[in-house]
Amino acid sequence: MNDSILTQYTKLKNKGLNIDITRGKPESTQLDLSNTLLNSNVQALSDSGVDLRNYGEPYGLDEARSLGAEILNAPKENIIAAEQSSLLLTYQTFLSCFLFGFETPWKNLKSRKFICPVPGFDRHFKIFEDFDIEVIPVPLYEDGIEIDSFKDALNKHDDILGMLSVPRHSNPSGETFSDENILDLFKYGKAYSKDFLFIFDNAYLVHDFLPTREQTPIWVLSEKSKCTDTTVIATSFSKVTFGGGGLSFVASGTRGIELLKRIRTSMIICPDKINQQRHLNFLPNLNAIKNHMKKHADIVKPKFELIYKYLDKLPNNYGSYSKPTGGYFVSYKFSKPIASTIVKNCSDLGVEITPADALFPKGKNPNNILRIAPTYIDLESLNNAMQVFNLATTKAFEET
Ligand code: PMP
Repeated sequence: MNDSILTQYTKLKNKGLNIDITRGKPESTQLDLSNTLLNSNVQALSDSGVDLRNYGEPYGLDEARSLGAEILNAPKENIIAAEQSSLLLTYQTFLSCFLFGFETPWKNLKSRKFICPVPGFDRHFKIFEDFDIEVIPVPLYEDGIEIDSFKDALNKHDDILGMLSVPRHSNPSGETFSDENILDLFKYGKAYSKDFLFIFDNAYLVHDFLPTREQTPIWVLSEKSKCTDTTVIATSFSKVTFGGGGLSFVASGTRGIELLKRIRTSMIICPDKINQQRHLNFLPNLNAIKNHMKKHADIVKPKFELIYKYLDKLPNNYGSYSKPTGGYFVSYKFSKPIASTIVKNCSDLGVEITPADALFPKGKNPNNILRIAPTYIDLESLNNAMQVFNLATTKAFEET
């Protein structure tokens, strides 16, 4: 270690930091924005006269489905307003395909493959593992999925069942797909198979903190491509109100929504309508949601700007990154396979960062990308964390 790095290293080590930037969780100040929900009174009957306390409305309160229709730009009949999380709806989609499928249950197939951008979201990879689905990785670039790689994958394999992606502020690298890109995905996927399933996890649909490229709603693009039957779009309020305590929505065409209803009928008699009503009182329409999300953006944006300031200081030959305009993550791609060394260096200085393994399907980690999740901690801690990140990176590069 050279003297200057050693001095800085000792100085930071002596601070005795204990900072966790492993997961994309909101800071408590963001959660406070929704505290009204904690004390809100809900009447027994909804506006349309449904008794919220009882079973019934298996696809969600009518008013909640209308809100989902407004958010996802799809007809109300094609919406399920559900509970808990979008991950659950995504999982239920896979489960229903596995057990029933459009025509053949996936469990009866000799092999199962799915296209998924990599690096990606660890819970998506977990779903693939659970259903013994091989991930066919495709890279992302600023406009979305690299179409040549997508076409290559389709040409090479005859057992691909669909694709799963995060089309807006993707996790972890922050891309927002262009309309052209999404239309191309529909075009080539549909030509490959009439049952090709397009799953869009729109967890960050309303989470812009800087001006973001125009994106036509996925439903509209899917309709234009005549793919709604095989398109599933999920989103939730986990990062609008409370993690796992909001409500979730899914939009799909008749075939897709019937599949979901089928599996959900076996496991859920009805969603939590009281929480749905509470949310409807608090966020009755898209405009209210957008205004609420501006308050989140005010808290989140300075944290991202701070990260950009630090990452811009790293020499160009260390690697590169792009600047997301929304979502919860920034990822840095190193020019050398030294991500695990940097994670170790950070940990030694008291900063826990997501291991690179989490961003890749099992066994496919090239060890050259790390994700920074800045939202959970305050600006002062983030400043310390970024000093550590930059020093840990410099040390790793100096020593290899
Ligand atoms: N999808 C993606 C891409 C995410 O990054 C996250 C949260 N990290 C989720 C889903 C989880 O959202 P939910 O609670 O709605 O499942």
